[in-house]
Amino acid sequence: MRTTAQWQAADASHFLHPFTDFGALARKGSRIITKAENIYLTDSEGQRILDAMSGLWCVNVGYGQQALIDAATRQLKELPFYNAFFQTATPPAIELAELLAEVTPPQFQHVFFAGSGSEGNDTIVRMVRRYWDILGQPERQVIISRKNGYHGSTMAGASLGGMSYMHAQGGLPIPNITHIDQPYWYENGRPQGLSREDFGKVAAGWLEQKILEVGPEKVAAFIGEPIQGAGGVIVPPETYWPEIQRICDKYGILLVSDEVICGFGRTGNWWGCETMGFRPDLMTFAKGVTSGYIPLGGVMVGDRVAKVLIEQGGDFNHGYTYSGHPVACAVALANIKLIRELKLVEQVRENTGPYLAAQFKALEDHPLVGEQQTKGLMGALLLVKDKAQGTPFASELEVGMVCRGHCFGNGLIMRAVGDRMIIAPPLVITRAQVDEMMALIRRALDLTLTDVRA
Ligand code: PLP
Repeated sequence: MRTTAQWQAADASHFLHPFTDFGALARKGSRIITKAENIYLTDSEGQRILDAMSGLWCVNVGYGQQALIDAATRQLKELPFYNAFFQTATPPAIELAELLAEVTPPQFQHVFFAGSGSEGNDTIVRMVRRYWDILGQPERQVIISRKNGYHGSTMAGASLGGMSYMHAQGGLPIPNITHIDQPYWYENGRPQGLSREDFGKVAAGWLEQKILEVGPEKVAAFIGEPIQGAGGVIVPPETYWPEIQRICDKYGILLVSDEVICGFGRTGNWWGCETMGFRPDLMTFAKGVTSGYIPLGGVMVGDRVAKVLIEQGGDFNHGYTYSGHPVACAVALANIKLIRELKLVEQVRENTGPYLAAQFKALEDHPLVGEQQTKGLMGALLLVKDKAQGTPFASELEVGMVCRGHCFGNGLIMRAVGDRMIIAPPLVITRAQVDEMMALIRRALDLTLTDVRA
């Protein structure tokens, strides 16, 4: 086994990491993660780290689940690959399509497989435009999404996303994608003195304004994450999504839920749209479908779109080598069965979700915490300079990164998005482990407070 320094040197010499300042990382050196079990990682120095981010929002059943390992091994031996292009299909892909139809809301009886969430969202862009083409309305090209939403890193995914720092590189967004402001009450509603409920309606109203500005006859779809994840776990007011639904219905616009993070139990229901109260026409999924053990993503296609594509569509000229990869599908089948067997969705809804909510509520006393939010097993703490006024820290201070450093140093993975500290632990986390995580979070907050006061 190589030493940490040897791994770091080889890493710096050859491996360009995603979303990373390559030069800075090469100088600093990566943390090398070597193994994991349950909710704990181990690094190359032997330190145990509580993974409060489920890898990257994906390891819902936790690490080391034998059922998933066995499913992959069996399928690798039986049939490691076959495609779905030549009017061919494999048993795991068919079975998974069947099972997904069972665990998704009733309008979803069909699935289009992809290799990731980004590929799923690229599929969405082509599929919704195809849908309107078939219906003789090819001018319906425009897809509306939100600033600070995240929908992936491909050209279409990053265009749908509303991250300005992504648009700044590579000439994005691609044409006919436009954005409205996000439903972030603390930043956009609280300063105006709006209640959360009233702000939810105001923020949804921005969609109607945009539709009228673009011209309703040109709008194909609206896409959003039920709860923005990478944007900082921004839980919209309860009034937001039902109003978005009403507006989409009013103008006949397709409603797309990006469930890449919220799907598979994260919010205490199987799907984020169930928790937030809306009925999408299409849903993107990835991550939790295999608990990240192997890449897989796709699109659930609701009856409204499926009927048109199947009955009137002809060829849909789109697909990936790995659409319906048999090993990925076999792992997904084992994963979904395990989620059911362990009753993880119920556990999040009735037990660990409310427990986490109470622990986060208690953190409102901390001098650094301006706002806290949770939904199921997603949570965010906003670090502010002045709680009473909600004044942010100077951005040069990078208080989120300071706090993240204290988490990492003390054996906890917690992510910083600006000054929002976010978590999404594996759904198998127990109450005792939530306590352990909260003690580490408190410690990191206290150390950060000492730093900012110094
Ligand atoms: N959509 C959402 C909501 C995501 O959070 C992500 C990834 O974090 C994606 C899409 C992109 O998925 P992938 O990284 O698998 O391409």
